[in-house]
Amino acid sequence: MSAPAESKMGIGGLLRRLLPFVTPYRWLLVATLTLTFLGSLMAQVNAVVLDRAVDRINALLHLEGGFQWSEAARILLVISSILLGKEVLAALVTFGQRIFGEKIRIHVSRDLSLRVVDRILTFRMAYFSLDGNEPGKLQTRIDRGIMSLSNTVKNFFIDILPLFTSAVLALVLMYAANVYVGLVATAIIPVYFWITALQGRRMKGWRHRVFGTHQQLSHGILNIIESMGVIKSFNRQRVEAAKQAALQEQSTEQQMQTRRISFLYEGLKTFVEQIGTVLIIILTAYLVLIDYPGMSIGKIMYHVMLFANVSAPIRQLHRIYDDLNDALVYAEGFFGILSADQEVETSGTYRGPGIQKSETSSQKSVQGRFELRHVEFTYPSGTHALRDLTMTIEPGRTTALVGLSGAGKSTIVNLLDKFYQPDSGTITLDGIPLQEWDTQVLRENIGLVLQKNHIFSGTIEDNIRYGRPDATHEEVLEAARRAYIYDQVVALPDGFGSNALQLSGGQQQRIAIARMFLKDPPIIFLDEPTASLDAIATEQIKNSIDAIKQGRTVVVISHNIGQIIDSDMLYVLDTGHCVQSGSPAEVYRQGGLYKDIFDASARSMNVDKIAMTTGISE
Ligand code: ADP
Repeated sequence: MSAPAESKMGIGGLLRRLLPFVTPYRWLLVATLTLTFLGSLMAQVNAVVLDRAVDRINALLHLEGGFQWSEAARILLVISSILLGKEVLAALVTFGQRIFGEKIRIHVSRDLSLRVVDRILTFRMAYFSLDGNEPGKLQTRIDRGIMSLSNTVKNFFIDILPLFTSAVLALVLMYAANVYVGLVATAIIPVYFWITALQGRRMKGWRHRVFGTHQQLSHGILNIIESMGVIKSFNRQRVEAAKQAALQEQSTEQQMQTRRISFLYEGLKTFVEQIGTVLIIILTAYLVLIDYPGMSIGKIMYHVMLFANVSAPIRQLHRIYDDLNDALVYAEGFFGILSADQEVETSGTYRGPGIQKSETSSQKSVQGRFELRHVEFTYPSGTHALRDLTMTIEPGRTTALVGLSGAGKSTIVNLLDKFYQPDSGTITLDGIPLQEWDTQVLRENIGLVLQKNHIFSGTIEDNIRYGRPDATHEEVLEAARRAYIYDQVVALPDGFGSNALQLSGGQQQRIAIARMFLKDPPIIFLDEPTASLDAIATEQIKNSIDAIKQGRTVVVISHNIGQIIDSDMLYVLDTGHCVQSGSPAEVYRQGGLYKDIFDASARSMNVDKIAMTTGISE
């Protein structure tokens, strides 16, 4: 991912959008804030105690009747009990405040993830083919968004708020003791802000550049691991290592540069802070010397300690500034996902003939007659995939879609499953426009087997049961038998409890087919179902598909001539147009694209030699 762009969302906007996620924890918030306030009060105790102690000890030294050990011991006892007592209490308060603050952060982070998952599950497929919504990018946007938003919550409640409350309290105490000292302490603050702003300006862009290089580096390493076979077979180890070395060089330089800038400004800030402390010492000492009312030696310590509390949060300003900037950038991408209302899949209410909205339609009520009239379709990326397409898919029959790669065959299946809406033209199922169908009911009636594997991490049994969650163990086994995968699965050490991702491509394909057997839908779409299978498995699958085809509407996309010639009806597609249609024999007689594909396929299979070979054995 490239470094994120500057954000358009302001801090106000960010907090407004974050607020609904924090409000459910308002009581926790009140508790945290109360503890924060208590903690801030306690942070001032040292200064107050030291002030009193110094003055008492000083008075004791100048006592007319002479120094008394008993009085000194009493003072020391009181001081140590107050300080120790306060430390114990402060430790408890800090613990409570941190644990509550963390609890809010963890819960907000969980709620943000849940909301975004709920949200993306409702999106139309088109959303995922938009530029910038590729899986990796979407995942980074979600991860980064959740991380930086929950960090904002943490920064606010755990880091900033206690420090700032303590700073304000310390400043109030300083003013109350002596206005001049208060003014000197206040005068240092704008200098800090100014240095922080300068630092922010110098660092601008560097953090994001560092982040961008870091992403490239980890992406590069991932690429190397994924392409290890290719790298080794082409002996390109040195080339790959050199690419990484160049990136590492860049990353090292960037990191050093950011560190240099950051240390320079941190040093400057410490220097200013020291100047502040020195000024306070000089001023308070002077006031003590001129015997200014209310000033005593104890007050010198008092103000120096309070000033440390005032400057503590200001030193953190830069980090907070950076984190907030990040949060603004990533929050925009994240909340963009939550508010993409136009991307939510629309659903009709039709649930089948004579079915009320609240009822579940019986599968048998769907016939499976699809009619497409003058359908035009363009992918969000701009690919015009279907042009003026008109075709009818007869119920209870097998229709094959034939054409070269990229002709639009899979796109038709995508439209029939309502993954995408056509730009214009109509698609009806059993005479009802597809958009009026309840999407869930429609998809309950369709079984889809794609060329690509769609196996989830989990056991083989769970993967098959995905087709029908309430299926019994016996039904799962039966489905596996019908998909010709049973014997191979039981031979595995963990049988049906094995991890499905360990299966080969062809075996995974049969798991997907078993899943469809279990679902037992009246309409079946097969998109190159045997593309990754060996010859024996292809034949087995063909047999089991032949069995399940009976009485169902089947649309099959295949490059396998053996599967195509078995169909009742054939549509030949060329760059989104339907160029031929009819029964396989009819279409072959017409000549044209189908004949070309058919003949090329027969030639590539070396049919003559196959015939000779099989002839020899006879
Ligand atoms: P076929 O199944 O006949 O091989 P497809 O229906 O997959 O062809 O593709 C038709 C055209 O649409 C191709 O040009 C392909 O690149 C494009 N296409 C397919 N899927 C997408 C998608 N998700 N986003 C953008 N373009 C796509």
